[in-house]
Amino acid sequence: MEIKRVLIANRGEIALRALRTIQEMGKEAIVIYSTADKDALYVRYADASICIGPPRSSDSYLNIPAIMTAAQISEADAIFPGYGFLSENQTFVEICEKENIKFIGPSVSAMALMSDKSKAKSFMMRAGVPVVPGSDGALKDIEEARKLAAQIGYPVIIKAAAGGGGRGMRVVYQEEDLEKNFWSAESEAISAFGDGTMYMEKYILSPRHIEVQIIGDNYGNVVHVGERDCSMQRRHQKLIEESPAVLLDEKTREKLHDTAVKAAKAIGYSGAGTFEFLYDKTTNDFYFIEMNTRLQVEHCVSEMISGIDIIEWMIRVAQGEKLLEQDEIILNGHAIECRITAEDPKSFVPSPGKITRYIAPGGRNVRMDSHIYQDYSVPPYYDSMIGKLVVHAQTRDKAIRKMKVALDELIIQGIKTTTNFHKTMMENDDFINNNYDTNYLSKHY
Ligand code: ADP
Repeated sequence: MEIKRVLIANRGEIALRALRTIQEMGKEAIVIYSTADKDALYVRYADASICIGPPRSSDSYLNIPAIMTAAQISEADAIFPGYGFLSENQTFVEICEKENIKFIGPSVSAMALMSDKSKAKSFMMRAGVPVVPGSDGALKDIEEARKLAAQIGYPVIIKAAAGGGGRGMRVVYQEEDLEKNFWSAESEAISAFGDGTMYMEKYILSPRHIEVQIIGDNYGNVVHVGERDCSMQRRHQKLIEESPAVLLDEKTREKLHDTAVKAAKAIGYSGAGTFEFLYDKTTNDFYFIEMNTRLQVEHCVSEMISGIDIIEWMIRVAQGEKLLEQDEIILNGHAIECRITAEDPKSFVPSPGKITRYIAPGGRNVRMDSHIYQDYSVPPYYDSMIGKLVVHAQTRDKAIRKMKVALDELIIQGIKTTTNFHKTMMENDDFINNNYDTNYLSKHY
């Protein structure tokens, strides 16, 4: 079935990013927007646009009845979910199916299998994928947590099964702190996700976060688009991503890719997805932590080193096409992405408001994925990410230098942004020497 009209159920940079691919494929792009986003660029560029409600996400971008009505009115035959919002909402996928509108993403069953992180881990363990030692599934109660922590040894990390965005997680260094951290992680999980199911893992002391991008089709084929290193994090949230992860040796890299492809096949996965691992440099071991059943923010670095448009393949797979072969995906050079957010570069406090001046960087292999423009007002209601600056060069060193030049060219005035933070990082010796782990910023900043 050929998809002709795609409704983009998202906002911000990813709405514009998806719109471009949809139109390049000769299809129509329909966008939805809240009243706070009425002046967004993608509304102007879309083939049709529909206002779906007031600013609050629960009234607009999470409002399933309003979005389904928009899809019906605009006669969309598919929905592109992006990341966040409804991208991993099983009810939404089921409703799309019932309404005969193609959800551009995995099946409900694949999504369900991976959505509970503790169950996903158990599934992966049984499929032969290495996982971080910890509870097999959810923790029953604090007593079980206490027993298990003593068994695997402190420090441990208590995590929300429904977790995401680094929330509902607590590291516990000693037994006397266990109970208090358990309750606080649980209550954070209940308020953030409406689900207080908790599980436990051994806390890996200095890990790197390395993930593998995969794409599957409806015929059991799965390819990988290399790995990404996303170890530069603040409060377990990614700030800088790159591909490839240069600290891996060829053998480990291959093993990681094979593991991800095998795992995707075990789920019967179709669409784009990411297997996230923690990598222990000292032992050369990697451990599965979760699978994201959607497109990720940092997909661009994989696109830059492969030349593949991942959203194009998500759409092609969704309309029943067969995937390309693994040997048609040639990975080359090095790509880095800096997430630019409307935040104070020191405190990371959000800084919404009107952009009075904007000059985007340019040049060979420099990509600015952003929806902002001069005089655009960043609304205070949503995620503070206003763009992703991505560069591609032959080597990591060259990519870092290219990023430095691009960041110097980037001018955003009127609001505070994290541009200066990234400039500092591109000159940071530990970053340049690739000598850091996921806790680097919490120790040094
Ligand atoms: P979320 O779904 O909220 O993003 P993840 O399970 O993907 O949570 O973990 C996010 C980050 O938290 C990881 O990239 C890593 O930095 C840290 N983390 C998670 N689990 C562990 C662990 N067992 N040991 C050490 N760090 C961890």
